[in-house]
Amino acid sequence: MTRAVLSIGSNMGDRLELLRGVVTGLGTRVRAVSPVYTTAPWGGVEQEDFLNAVLVAEDPGYRCRDWLRHGQRLETAAGRERAVRWGARTLDVDIVSCAEPDAGGFRALHSTDPELTLPHPQAHNRAFVLIPWLDVEPDATLAVEGTERSARELLMELDPAERAGVRRTELALLPAAGTVR
Ligand code: ATP
Ligand code: CA
Ligand code: CA
Repeated sequence: MTRAVLSIGSNMGDRLELLRGVVTGLGTRVRAVSPVYTTAPWGGVEQEDFLNAVLVAEDPGYRCRDWLRHGQRLETAAGRERAVRWGARTLDVDIVSCAEPDAGGFRALHSTDPELTLPHPQAHNRAFVLIPWLDVEPDATLAVEGTERSARELLMELDPAERAGVRRTELALLPAAGTVR
């Protein structure tokens, strides 16, 4: 049994449909879905703006590695090609954090494996991860250099320009209750 916080992003093709495909692809595992944000690209490569969101998902049979594999399958299904690092992509699914049940709550797991580093080593630097995550988990915490920190505090420590670059949209990954898609 694990619970994962997933950061999903797209800046190529039908970005909203590609993000919706992740919610559909995770199906009944999905526990929470953030609003959709539009974000200036990160990493200095010239490209379209991203749509970003955060999902929380649980599966009784998944270990942390299974979230990575599932994310990679969804990226491949979205036609992702690995070209330039931090360049344009149809879909990116990152594992921000992965936790196991522990004494009535959840305990985040830590890993330095380059195949799956947990928590994600850049999550604390990225407003496009922290802002949607806080929408769905206002008390979220994240280990930074071995110290558990409040995601809200980490967000407040970022450059205001970085926070301002993440803008909430009216787009939704789930259909509103009572509507037919
Ligand atoms: P970044 O990880 O800085 O956001 P990126 O998403 O563009 O960059 P990718 O090319 O998607 O990088 O992934 C490179 C590798 O990162 C993957 O092959 C994967 O094995 C590894 N990886 C390590 N930790 C994680 C994690 N927490 N979530 C997703 N991938 C990870
Ligand atoms: Ca990424
Ligand atoms: Ca990635």
